[in-house]
Amino acid sequence: MKVIVLNCGSSSIKYQLFDTDGPKVIAKGLVEKIGMNGSRIRHEKQNGKEDVVFEGEILDHQSGIEYMLGILISKKHGCIKSFNEIDAIGHRVVHGGEKFNSSVLITSEVIAMLEECISLAPLHNPPNLSGIYAMKNLLPHVPQVGAFDTAFHQTMPDYAYLYALPYSLYKQHGIRRYGFHGTSHKFVMQQACSFLGLAPEQSRIITCHMGNGGSITAILNGQSVDTSMGMTPVEGLVMGTRCGDLDPGILPYLMQREELNINTANTLINKHSGLIGISGVSSDMREVTAAAKNGNERASLALNMFYYRIRKYIGAYTAVMGGVDVIVFTGGIGENSTLARAEIMKDFEFLGVDFDPAKNEQARGETALISTPSSRVKVLVVPTNEELVIARDTAAIVRQLNKS
Ligand code: ADP
Repeated sequence: MKVIVLNCGSSSIKYQLFDTDGPKVIAKGLVEKIGMNGSRIRHEKQNGKEDVVFEGEILDHQSGIEYMLGILISKKHGCIKSFNEIDAIGHRVVHGGEKFNSSVLITSEVIAMLEECISLAPLHNPPNLSGIYAMKNLLPHVPQVGAFDTAFHQTMPDYAYLYALPYSLYKQHGIRRYGFHGTSHKFVMQQACSFLGLAPEQSRIITCHMGNGGSITAILNGQSVDTSMGMTPVEGLVMGTRCGDLDPGILPYLMQREELNINTANTLINKHSGLIGISGVSSDMREVTAAAKNGNERASLALNMFYYRIRKYIGAYTAVMGGVDVIVFTGGIGENSTLARAEIMKDFEFLGVDFDPAKNEQARGETALISTPSSRVKVLVVPTNEELVIARDTAAIVRQLNKS
């Protein structure tokens, strides 16, 4: 089955065309700077063997998607002969609130429910919806599926997802922990289980997704029971530009002392904090690590805070699950930074981790064990692939639809 997977951000669209029977990626690309000067499409096909850039005015998501479809069927750069070859479209949708606990076929009712979720993710859900509206206009007969970042975490118990604010605020405004990166946490958990020959329903797994944004999840018997991101993706770990956990009293204090308004306060915790806020160097882990190696003390401090926060969560989630069998690293930092993995796993022998530094140095690009074979707690690196999960979910839902 040929499935287009779309990840629509505020000014960009990432796309991949999958043949889910392989599964293999037939083509992929990125529409950048939508509605800005210098908008363009970078298109790759044949596993990156051909890479072309198209520059031109792209005012909105609909025209970005129209260009992208034009490239997919173009004689010179394309890979399909007609749009009839496209069987389905899968969308990454950031916030599904409490309405969705798995991927769904997009119908008019689902669109209405997604529109109701906009207030929970005002930056993310509107561009996701723009992609859905655009595809509805451009390829009206092709079924669309939504896969939610929040869906996997809908199994959390109430005592884990509620904040100790007045209960009425949960009922009135949906104030609770939803969690994000669910597609990634679920995927790497399943990969880890099949790699180790473990049954997900009899396992205690901690998955650490560390990219520009990051979150960590406690997965007990295959179900998310707690996760570090909250109602919004700011809570939890120290991230590239986000602060993660914070005493909530700091915000009103700072808003008064620095006369910050709501927008500036929001920008402070989302854009100027985390690695960039502490180091003053960069939000990019590679640059902060390089600066620390060159003796920059604030870069070292930022790294120490980053590692410490994850170690704290690993301890907490081990307690939550009554132990841990597997710890998984994924995301740009989790998959590539041998230093971060080694620092986070330091002195965890008391937990049952026998870390293997040599294997840690070698692990790159594919699932790998980085603890010794006899380690009671297994530590793994698992490359994530959220697009593949969306493509698979989409194909499964559309196959079911075609049967009925
Ligand atoms: P996003 O959350 O935007 O998808 P990624 O998962 O691609 O982000 O992760 C980006 C992060 O991964 C950046 O901080 C980047 O510095 C880090 N990263 C990528 N490669 C390496 C590497 N070799 N060593 C350390 N960090 C790396």
